[in-house]
Amino acid sequence: MQINENLIRSVVEQVLSEVRGNQSGASTMAANPVSASSSTALGRFGLFSNVDDAVRSARAAFEQMRERPIADRRKIIDIVRRISIDQCVELGTMEMEETKIGRLEHKIAKLKTLGERTPGVEFLKTECYSGDHGLAVIEHAPFGVIGAITPVTHSLPTITGNAVSMIAGGNAVVVNPHPSGRKVAAEGVRRFNQAIHAEVGIDNLISLICEPTLETAQQLFKHRSVALICVTGGPAVARAALNSGKRAVVAGPGNPPVVVDETADLDHAARCIIQGAAYDNNLLCIAEKEVFVVGSVFDAMMSAMERAGAVRLTSPEIERLTAAALQVVGEGSDKHYGARKELLGQDAYKLAAAAGRSVDPKVELVFGETTNDHPFVQTEQMMPFVPFVRCKDFDEAVRLAQAAEHGYRHTSIIHSRNVRNMTKMARVMDTTLFVKNGPCMASLGLGGEGYLSFSIAGPTGEGVTTPLTFTRERRCSLIEDLHVLGGISNL
Ligand code: NAD
Repeated sequence: MQINENLIRSVVEQVLSEVRGNQSGASTMAANPVSASSSTALGRFGLFSNVDDAVRSARAAFEQMRERPIADRRKIIDIVRRISIDQCVELGTMEMEETKIGRLEHKIAKLKTLGERTPGVEFLKTECYSGDHGLAVIEHAPFGVIGAITPVTHSLPTITGNAVSMIAGGNAVVVNPHPSGRKVAAEGVRRFNQAIHAEVGIDNLISLICEPTLETAQQLFKHRSVALICVTGGPAVARAALNSGKRAVVAGPGNPPVVVDETADLDHAARCIIQGAAYDNNLLCIAEKEVFVVGSVFDAMMSAMERAGAVRLTSPEIERLTAAALQVVGEGSDKHYGARKELLGQDAYKLAAAAGRSVDPKVELVFGETTNDHPFVQTEQMMPFVPFVRCKDFDEAVRLAQAAEHGYRHTSIIHSRNVRNMTKMARVMDTTLFVKNGPCMASLGLGGEGYLSFSIAGPTGEGVTTPLTFTRERRCSLIEDLHVLGGISNL
C-alpha cells in the first residue's frame, strides 16, 4: 500500500490544531461573541484567532480535499448552497442587525440567490487539442489556499459566493471579513464547516479570522502558504492587494453612471433606475449612482421618476442632505468626499428626513437635479439618493459619465433605442459591465443573461469571477498517440 505523506501530515496538523483550539477555547470564547453563543471553540469549524492557525488548518483541509473525487466538491458546494438558501432568513436578519445598513428583504434575497445561482463544478470545462502530433488536454487545477477579504456591504453573501467558486476550483479559503460584519461572517462559516465536517469529514475548508484587523489582512497577504488573494472592497484594499507582491484577484470600487438619451423609453428607464439604485439601499457596487440625461428629455425623465414612485427633492433639500450625508475625507491630493456612516445604506425616508422632508417609509428612492461637479455625482455614495445631471447632448452625457466613473472601469448603464449611441458609450466607458435598457443587476444574470458573482474583478481583469478564476491551467501532452483521425499507415 502506498503511504500518502501529505495526507498524513495534514491530518496530524488538523488534529494538533483542534487540540490547540480546544486548549485555548476556554480563554477565547468569552472574548468572541460567536464562540460564546454557539459554544464552538476557536480552532474548529473554520473559526480562528490568528492567521497562521487559520492558514495551516485550511491547508490541511485542502490536502484532504485533494485526495477526494470531484463528486465530493459537489457535495461540499451543495452544503454551502443548502445552508445559504434554507437559513437565508435567519442569517440575513443577523447580517442586518449587525451591520445596520441596507434592507432586510435584500439581505435575505442575496444569500438565497448566491446560494442558488453561483456557478459550481460544472463550470470547469476541460479543453483539448488533437492533431498529427497527438493529444494535449488542458485541465483546471486548484491554487491551494486562497486569502479572501470581504466587504461590510455583503459580508456573508460574498463569503458564500467566494466559497462556492473557490471550492468548485478545488481550493480552500481563509477569510478576513470586514470588522463590522464579522459576527455574521463567523456564524455562517461555522455552520458551513460544521455541516461539511459532519457530511464529508473535512473541517476548516472555509476558515475565518474572528477578530479581523488591517494587520491580519496584511499577514494573510504575505503568508507563504497563501497562493492567491481575492479582495472585494473599496479603493484602499484594492491598492493594498495590488501592492501585496502576491497574485491578486481584485474586485474594487465603482461609481456606476447611467446615461439616458432622447430615444429611451423613459418610464422603463425610471423603473430600472429605481430597481437598481434602491436595491439594498444602493449598497451594490454595480448600482446606479448618478444619471446623465440629455436636455431635450430631462424634464420628462424627472416626471417619469416621480410616476415610478421616487420622490424628487428640491435644491435646498439636496444641499441639506449633502451636509448630513457626505464629508471630506483623506489628506492632501487624496482629499475627497466620503459617505458619513450615519446615513450610508439607510432607507430613503431617513435621507429625506435629513433633507428636511417627511416621506412615506415605503418610498424606495429619493432623487433630484444637481450640477455635474456635485459631491453626490462624484462620490460612490452607497445610499438611495440619486443625482440627475442635465446635459447638452448625448456626447456631453457620455463625457461626464466617463469622468464620474473615475477610471474604475467597473459598471456603466445606458437607456436608449439608438444602437449607435449604445456602441459609442460602450467603447468610451470600457467598463467591465455595460448594461443596456435594464437595471444594474441584469448584468449578473438577475433578469439578464450570464452568471452570478458578487466579486467583479475590474482592476485585475478577471471580470465576474467564476470557479475558473480560481484555477491554474495544467496541460498534459501525449505525443503521437490517442489522436484517432490520422492515417493508419503511420502507426
Ligand atoms: P472597504 O474598502 O471599507 O472594506 C473592504 C474590506 O477591505 C474590509 O474587509 C476591510 O476591512 C478591508 N480593508 C480596508 N482597507 C484595507 C487595507 N488598507 N488593507 C487591507 N484590508 C483593508 O469597503 P466596504 O465598505 O466594506 O465595501 C464597499 C466597497 O466595496 C465599495 O467601494 C464597493 O464598490 C466595493 N465592492 C466591490 C465589489 C466588486 O465586486 N467589485 C463588490 C462589493 C463591494
